[in-house]
Amino acid sequence: MPEERPTSVLLVEDDEDDYILTRGLLRGIEGTRYEIEWVDNSKRALELIFQSRWDICLVDFRLGEHTGLELIRLARERGSRVPFILLTGMSDRETALEAMSAGASDYLVKGRTDCALLERSIRYAIQQARAMAALARRTEELARSNRELEQFASVVSHDLKSPLQIVTSSLELYSIKHGEHLSPDARLMIDRIMKAVMRAHALIDDLLRYARLNAVVKLAEPVELSSLVDTVIEDLEPAIAETMAQVTRTSLPRVQGNATLLYQVFNNLISNALKFHGASPPRIHIESVESEQRDQEWSFAVHDNGIGIPLEHRDTIFGMFRRLHRRDQYPGTGIGLALCQKIIERHGGRIWAESAPGQGSTFHFTLSKGQEHLLPSADPAT
Ligand code: ADP
Repeated sequence: MPEERPTSVLLVEDDEDDYILTRGLLRGIEGTRYEIEWVDNSKRALELIFQSRWDICLVDFRLGEHTGLELIRLARERGSRVPFILLTGMSDRETALEAMSAGASDYLVKGRTDCALLERSIRYAIQQARAMAALARRTEELARSNRELEQFASVVSHDLKSPLQIVTSSLELYSIKHGEHLSPDARLMIDRIMKAVMRAHALIDDLLRYARLNAVVKLAEPVELSSLVDTVIEDLEPAIAETMAQVTRTSLPRVQGNATLLYQVFNNLISNALKFHGASPPRIHIESVESEQRDQEWSFAVHDNGIGIPLEHRDTIFGMFRRLHRRDQYPGTGIGLALCQKIIERHGGRIWAESAPGQGSTFHFTLSKGQEHLLPSADPAT
């Protein structure tokens, strides 16, 4: 078996006696060889830290120009990913917490540290640093592939729309030129083609919106939902007037999220409630609901008095391209609810429907109040 590579240690310690002591502990650890480089001042240490050869860096708390804590903080600020262990002469909680927040993996008290403790601490710090590096790599890869997907979607959508544009303008031109001589059949045909082109436009726009969701976006800005929903209602005014709908809402909270995405959620849900109405004019009510987990999440409901959804489809309607009706009955692309679900999940929430045919529907959704759903952004601009 090839012998394992020795663990490479940078020891930053201004006291030679302490250096000898720590070196003795490292040499006393059975089964692992340590290659130690000693440096006695923080200035030189800051230069050496950025060499990629270190597995671990042990830093004394008391150094000449900077404290060990300052050194760790500076190294982290400048992008060093080497794991640090702080060595101090005293044991107090405050220093321990400070060491961790500066970016150290552990904190050991000199004189109270033996070989076993030192070995365990080094092993843990190295493993943790490797896991963090792997996570950072994956996050960067994910952000890159999201950027590529978004670029791809933009290019494809542009390329798909160009021929549609040619069809539309050619047909318009043709209608203008020959309008008077066109037979009713020909007019019907042109009308059908125009409608199909409009559907294709809507589909491309929805797909693009869906693909863009993957790109890392700022999710934690304050959003006043009351005014956001008022804007949605205003923007849907033509459809509201046409269906003689009544849309009401309770007071809605200010949440942390992305306003553009949350606009899309309310817009899709209210549009659907307007579209899938029964014999009587739509009655739509948007409310903020008291959730049992109100410490962790906000909860909302959008009620309508429409045609309702059969039990067996209440979950499947959130899938891509899932539609329960023919296009000539109700227009649509079948992407709206899939988009809503993805947006809500990006906000750490859930979405579901309660409904029965002929009884109207209620779409419930939650948004997380925590930060755990936020992807670490690899792109500082987003
Ligand atoms: P689209 O509205 O483009 O068809 P969606 O993804 O928004 O696509 O909705 C998927 C399907 O779920 C709809 O086609 C419809 O059958 C059903 N649906 C959605 N919202 C409602 C609603 N408020 N009432 C009844 N059915 C609904």
